[in-house]
Amino acid sequence: MEEDKTIQTMKLKIAIQKSGRLYEDSIKILRESGIEFSNGMNKLRSEAYNFPLEVLFLRDDDIPQYVEDGVADAGIVGENIIAETNKKIRTVEKLGFGKCRLSIAVPKNADYRSIKDLKGKKIATSYPVILSKYLKKKRVEAKIETVSGSVEIAPSVGLADAICDLVSSGSTLFANGLKETEVIFRSEAALISGTKLDKEKSALLKKILFRFKAVKKSRHNKYVLMNAPNDKLDAICKILPGMKSPTVMPLAEKGWSSVHSVIDEEKFWEIIEQLKENGAQGILVVPIEKMIV
Ligand code: ATP
Ligand code: ZN
Repeated sequence: MEEDKTIQTMKLKIAIQKSGRLYEDSIKILRESGIEFSNGMNKLRSEAYNFPLEVLFLRDDDIPQYVEDGVADAGIVGENIIAETNKKIRTVEKLGFGKCRLSIAVPKNADYRSIKDLKGKKIATSYPVILSKYLKKKRVEAKIETVSGSVEIAPSVGLADAICDLVSSGSTLFANGLKETEVIFRSEAALISGTKLDKEKSALLKKILFRFKAVKKSRHNKYVLMNAPNDKLDAICKILPGMKSPTVMPLAEKGWSSVHSVIDEEKFWEIIEQLKENGAQGILVVPIEKMIV
């Protein structure tokens, strides 16, 4: 009987960061995908209540290895870690969070014109693989000093002439008297998977991917409703892209219609202004929870 149960409850194992910059957004995308699980402190694994999924909580650097070894079937990890660890895994989908860049920075008073100025110099980094590839491509020979943390203090303590580290706002660099000179890699969190998932696990991964895509898409879009005078409907409908075309319904008040559409966050304010200029009134903007296209 016990044996039967394990077969029936075959689960997809997904590894996410245990704590740190990707932790909350990883949990969020799973939850918004309708997957419920507990994430109690000090937990190493958690089973979803309503989906055949087991979540493993790991250090981000270890995730590609676990996925390559098949201990986890999938994972959520930064592209920087994917590139640095260089494991045999598949990048399935970029997830739109954890955005950062890997940059070279030098002391702010340093005389720096191009990467060639780092010839023969020492660069401290936690990303020796990505950095050495970049230097090779640029034909610059420099010494790479691999450090595991606090990279940004390396120049001030005399350990290195430059650093290569992750940056998002640049405030850490600034606070340490450094200036960013080259962006060598751009990264965001991505869903990865093993290269040899069996049929059932592939099907589960596909389901999760479908949901992740719907969540991702919904984050970029807003649902808008407005009242429009009928004589302006043509102009207003031209401004609105919508999924297909906008929905137009007559209002009880004669000569007016209600117009519904979906708009992209990037063009949001621009579109709203145009709508107002064209006589739209009572514009309501509503977040979209999921978007299936
Ligand atoms: P762990 O204990 O899991 O090894 P960590 O200290 O190596 O954690 P975090 O600082 O939590 O890692 O960063 C995790 C990931 O978040 C990075 O690998 C990167 O993909 C992403 N990230 C986004 N913005 C930044 C940033 N400004 N600095 C560092 N990482 C960032
Ligand atoms: Zn790490």
